[in-house]
Parts: sequence; C-alpha cells; structure tokens
Amino acid sequence: MPSALITGITGQDGLYLAELLISKGYDVHAIIRGQNNPKRELVERVVPGVTLHTGDLTDLSSLMRAINAAQPDEFYNLGAVSFVAYSWENAFVTSDVTGMGVLNALEAVRLYCGDDPTKTRFYQASSSEMFGKVQQVPQDESTLLWPRSPYGVAKVYGHYMTINYRESYGMHASSGILFNHESPRRGPEFVTRKVTTAVARIALGLQETIAMGNLDAKRDWGYAGDYVEAMWRMLQQDEADDYVIATGETHSIRDLLDVAFRHVGIDDWSQRVVQDPRFMRPAEVDLLIGDASKARERLGWAPTVDFAELVQMMVDSDLAEQRALAGK
Ligand code: GDP
Repeated sequence: MPSALITGITGQDGLYLAELLISKGYDVHAIIRGQNNPKRELVERVVPGVTLHTGDLTDLSSLMRAINAAQPDEFYNLGAVSFVAYSWENAFVTSDVTGMGVLNALEAVRLYCGDDPTKTRFYQASSSEMFGKVQQVPQDESTLLWPRSPYGVAKVYGHYMTINYRESYGMHASSGILFNHESPRRGPEFVTRKVTTAVARIALGLQETIAMGNLDAKRDWGYAGDYVEAMWRMLQQDEADDYVIATGETHSIRDLLDVAFRHVGIDDWSQRVVQDPRFMRPAEVDLLIGDASKARERLGWAPTVDFAELVQMMVDSDLAEQRALAGK
C-alpha cells in the first residue's frame, strides 16, 4: 500500500487530497498544528482514515518525527498562511510559514531519503499569486514571476527552493502553480465563499446586503476537487517538473456576484452590494489567466467543473448550511 504525508490537512485542498488518496488505496498521514487545534474534529469527521501527527512547518524536528513515523512515498506540502490580504499585516509570519516552511519540509524529506533522493516524492503548492504584476497573458511555467504581496513573495521563495532541491540533490520534487481554486470547503475569508454564503443568507432573508472590495478584480477560478487530482498526477510522473494548473478563463468579482445572485432568483443585485474600503488591497495582481497546456499534454489533466457550475455548487451548499443553522 503506498503511503502519503500531507501538511495543510485542515484546509480545503488537504481534505480533498486526503479523500482522493484514500480512494486510491493510500495509507494517508497528515501533520496537524498545535495544541487543541479547533479544526482537528473536522478532519477526524471528514477523513477518519487519516493518521494525524502533531507538528509545525516552522519546526524541523517535528517534521522529522512525523516523516519517520509515516514513512511516506509521497509528501504533499499544502500547509501555509494562505490569505493574501492578511499577509500585508503579518508579513513576517507569512514569510516564516509559507516561505521558510517549504525549506523545512524539503530538508525533512531530504534527510529522510538518505542516499536515495527519490525515495519520497515531494509536491509543493505554488501559486498564481507569484505572477502578480503579470509579465505575460496567459501565464505559463516560463512566465517571469513578479509577486505583488508578502504572500506571493513567500510562495516564490518556496517555488525556487523546490526547484533548487530537485537540481541540487536529485530529489523528485514538483511544484504545481495552481490558479485560484474554490469549493464549498473554501474558507469564508476568500471572495468566492464570502459571496456564496452572503447570497444564501440574503435569499433566506437572514441578511440584507454584502460589503465588498474591488469588484473589477479578476481571477481564473477552478474547482478544488479537480486541482488535487493534478497534484497526484504530478507525483506519478517519472520526472519531477513544474506545472501550471488553471481553467484558462477569467471572470470578475461582478461576474461572480451575477452568477450567485441569479442562482437564487435575484437578477438586479445593485442594491444588495455596498463598497467597503476595508476590503480593498494595497496592491492588486493583474490579469491572472493560466495556460495549463503542459498539464493537459503531459498529465492528461483537464478541469471538469466550469465557473457557473462551481459558483452554483457553492451557493447550493451554503443554502443547505444556512438553512440548517437557522433551523429553516
Ligand atoms: P486571492 O486571489 O488569493 O487573493 O483570493 P481572494 O478570494 O481573497 O480574492 C480575490 C480577489 O477578490 C482579490 O482581487 C480581491 O481584491 C477581490 N475582492 C473584492 N472584494 C473582496 C472581499 O470582500 N473579500 C476578498 N477576500 N476579496 C475581495
């Protein structure tokens, strides 16, 4: 039975990836942070088959302990401080976890592998935020990186360190440059989930309006369930490499609001949305659109859920959740 070790198990991607690997017959282990982590219960409920090890990306010896216990064939580094807006106010901790944490993870795997550097295959969760002030549209694996937030800068560090470990030590270390990917499990701080939850509450009469930042921002949004499949496929290749994972389509926040509100029968949502400077950012990324041709060709990967289906799936899930919470 192959085994895998995941960091970031409490996040959206960690849960989808754990489910995928369990369905493929893996012995799945994960590293969970801290004492009395409030998300531990969620993980134990959604993926009860996963063995949890306590550890932290900023603590190399805890990673070594987990990796020695799990003896993984594959290591997926999904752990990060992942909210871009937060990263300006918490640049140091973001750099420490999202950047230096990758170095610790690579070191742990390198030390565990001993004189067989490909014994454990490594996946790094890189991000389209690395493209930031985009130098080319659409973006592919060779596009110059120009991050626009402390989060983006930290991800660039992790990305190049992953490439460096592959080149320096011959490790099977791959980096997936994933564009935004969403689902009903997306955290409430991200714009998609914020909108779908608010629209569900407005439809149920639980809330009147939604306060938003920049409505002209655009993203290439895909479905997280499709994107974890790409991670797994990268590690099944003979050679490690870097891959852009994206839909190749971009939509604005206005489009997002439009699809979500229309799904609950509200065609004119102009009175429902108020602009709030608290949600504006010191700097924005430009036009993010990914070119995933390499992943299509080499991994046989393609997205299965389009933008409207994704937003509708999230609104439906939030309607059910909000109804249950409100006892409706
Ligand atoms: P990101 O791509 O990782 O930063 O994902 P987010 O979901 O946090 O943000 C996507 C885009 O939505 C950014 O360009 C934000 O400026 C824009 N946006 C507009 N209003 C909001 C809001 O109220 N909350 C968030 N999170 N983003 C907003």
